[in-house]
Amino acid sequence: MLMETEKIFEESARYLMDTYGRLPVAPRKGRGVRIWGVDDREYLDFVGGIAVNVLGHCHPKVVVAIQKQAQRLIHVSNLYYIENQVKLARLLVENSFADKAFFCNSGAEANEGAIKLARKYSRAAYGDGKYEIVTALNSFHGRTYGALSATGQTRFHAGFGPMLPGFVYVPFGDAEALKKAVSPGRTCAVLLEPIQAEGGVRMPPPDYFRQVREICDTSGALLVLDEVQTGMGRTGELFAYKHFGIKPDIMTLAKGLGGGVPIGAVLGTDRVAQAFTPGSHAATFGGNPLVCASGIATIQTLLEDDQYLLEHCKRMGALLSKKLSGLIKAYPEHARSTRGIGLLQALELARPCAPVVRECIGRGLLVNCTAENVLRLMPPLIVQETDIDQAIDILSEVLKKL
Ligand SMILES: *Cc1c(COP(=O)(O)O)cnc(C)c1O
Repeated sequence: MLMETEKIFEESARYLMDTYGRLPVAPRKGRGVRIWGVDDREYLDFVGGIAVNVLGHCHPKVVVAIQKQAQRLIHVSNLYYIENQVKLARLLVENSFADKAFFCNSGAEANEGAIKLARKYSRAAYGDGKYEIVTALNSFHGRTYGALSATGQTRFHAGFGPMLPGFVYVPFGDAEALKKAVSPGRTCAVLLEPIQAEGGVRMPPPDYFRQVREICDTSGALLVLDEVQTGMGRTGELFAYKHFGIKPDIMTLAKGLGGGVPIGAVLGTDRVAQAFTPGSHAATFGGNPLVCASGIATIQTLLEDDQYLLEHCKRMGALLSKKLSGLIKAYPEHARSTRGIGLLQALELARPCAPVVRECIGRGLLVNCTAENVLRLMPPLIVQETDIDQAIDILSEVLKKL
């Protein structure tokens, strides 16, 4: 069995482009919050496919939805009406600020769609010249050129220039800086993550988004929220903007949206969405019957029993946060601070966290390291108290040995 693992590592290096710093785990099977490697080793999964597996691995409702749909119809073109796409759009619209949806295949692609929609709307409403998009430093919006240009981190741009013109960056959480950067004559949109997840789980100051909304309103700029990571229940609300008492004009989704299959979405109000007309934008695979079946099962499960899972997410998030604070008390020399909301939690270390991630793997726990020294925890929303205890015990052992 170990031989098999070694072979996968070796052939991965031989046949795949070297774009990922992969960790020495080769998962073959998953159930709930656990996965098993080809060597049969068991792991408690607090990465969850990077906030993708909101319902855990192979949730029965998702599995059955995919199986049934695969037997009936897998793909058909958007030249025709797609029943599942309409059904998923309706579920998203009925549970958000939005009136209309467009489906694509990933977070980056959703942000490309949002950027195009914002510019097209602005051109139609105000004429040429008002095309700038203000985004935040330390943000992450994806790896395609538009989304990459929107990403306010030079390390992701390095070697790939020139970027798409028309992007302006400001510090996240600083309403004064945003006010200065937004111009009624030039700015078509402000694009922000509700919480900077990849950037180290950076929370916005209270009232920030109310100020952002006001700045957008007074300058005729659209507010675009990238909820690719924070959406689909991750924060304890179906969408994170619901915590802030404001509504965006456009919102992008992906990660958790399909419960594991590749699907993204651009959601918008009627006023903005009308800027897209036949031929404006498209995606061959976008919203095909198979991925939408999985998306429908995912959102229906998140909403069933009076949104039980969202409440559960809030409870488990509070518990995880409390136990992470306990680790800071126990190991103040290694663990600095904790922050997060719902089941998007972070423990900031006083040192790079890559070695901690490796030690955790050795003890059967998967956690993620982002922004160099931030351990990011994104377990499925179905995680139980005993799982959290197990994860904290392992983290505690690892921190003790540092
Ligand atoms: C992951 C992520 C993206 C990119 O999504 P992909 O599906 O990898 O293209 C964009 N924005 C945010 C906030 C993300 O977390």
